[in-house]
Amino acid sequence: MNDFKETLSLAEEIYYNPELGFKEFKTSKLIENFIKKYFPQEKITKFSETGIKFNLGEKKSLHIALIAEMDAVYTPSHFYANKETGAAHNCGHYSQVAIMLDLLKRLSTDNEYKSFDFSLGFVFTPAEEYLDLEFRKKMKENNRITYLGGKPEAIKLGIFNEFDFAIAIHSMGGEPTRRSIELNCNLAGFLYKYYTFLGKPAHAGFAPQAGINAYSISTLFNTALGLFRQQIDEKYMVRINPVILDAPMGTNVIPDKIKIGTDIRAHSVEYMLELSERLDTIAQCSAKALGGDVKIETEMGYLPFLQSHYLSNFVRETFKNFPEIEYCKENSPVSAAGDIGDLSYILPCIQIGYNGFSGTFHGTDFIHKDNEYIFSIFPKFLMKVLKDMSGKIDKSKLYKKTYEDYKKIIEKLGGENEK
Ligand SMILES: [Zn+2]
Ligand SMILES: [Zn+2]
Repeated sequence: MNDFKETLSLAEEIYYNPELGFKEFKTSKLIENFIKKYFPQEKITKFSETGIKFNLGEKKSLHIALIAEMDAVYTPSHFYANKETGAAHNCGHYSQVAIMLDLLKRLSTDNEYKSFDFSLGFVFTPAEEYLDLEFRKKMKENNRITYLGGKPEAIKLGIFNEFDFAIAIHSMGGEPTRRSIELNCNLAGFLYKYYTFLGKPAHAGFAPQAGINAYSISTLFNTALGLFRQQIDEKYMVRINPVILDAPMGTNVIPDKIKIGTDIRAHSVEYMLELSERLDTIAQCSAKALGGDVKIETEMGYLPFLQSHYLSNFVRETFKNFPEIEYCKENSPVSAAGDIGDLSYILPCIQIGYNGFSGTFHGTDFIHKDNEYIFSIFPKFLMKVLKDMSGKIDKSKLYKKTYEDYKKIIEKLGGENEK
């Protein structure tokens, strides 16, 4: 019998003890203890300080990764934020961990998984949220990590090499009116551009003509960028948000330096690359037009997440025969991003959404509400998805790329994240 109280208390243990990326030590320990309780003989692999991989039983020729994210978000104003670190579980990752552990327990009591034509591995990944970057950059300097995101780092370490595809889950936003899942919700990829415009200082009253105004160059850049938006293809759901990052200036001197930063988000790697080059041109020409210069830096974020429609079809089929879930939302891409995008570049991935929460995503009041759905019905649904999948996966519909391929595309995008 499955005990849903244990799953809820696991979830709450994590929810009330939120930890930021690469520091999920308590969460990681809790996962480890749980696995040892149900599978005392099996080997646990650890990676990236807090990450955990656990393979269930003998490995078969088709090997599936089940993924849960462990980290919290930096939101000091959240009603259950950690007072010292500002960490809060308002992206629902705590529930992913509890659901996957519940599934693991179901698999341990119901030995049916042994008859599946595939084997399963659980991967608990750190640091999905792209934040606390000063800390992570220090970790990078000290050679403890290479990438700032948990899944890119796990890709580098070869954690996913053995898998043919991956199934992830994620909470859905919005107040629940009916128990729902979500399929094929593609995410944007993103990168950061930094443009430091350089001019020449001069006395603003005595001889402004002798200076080159860096602030004016940045204004020209922002204006050109605004006009350029008309040429952006809507189908890639692009987002660009230029902001002033550093502007040391006073009114009596012609400003000679201003740093502008912007994200570029899009649903295509190629289009991100094209936009990055177009923005560089706009910056260079703006600087040139007024006789100044520009220093350009690029920092890679995450790749777009394009879900495997082939794999989502299996989930939809199970949903059709699962009356306890009332609705399946489909094909509503968003311009948010996740590091699962990077993983989907090397192997097919799906992320199944589940609702049942109240409050705002990344807001001050996000919390589980429909506990029975989240911690009992949804894991049961996942179990059924796996049962229904067995014997039906056509391996020729899957793809696999190497870490070298991944590295190449990140470098092409100007990835500062790579050493
Ligand atoms: Zn989030
Ligand atoms: Zn999230």
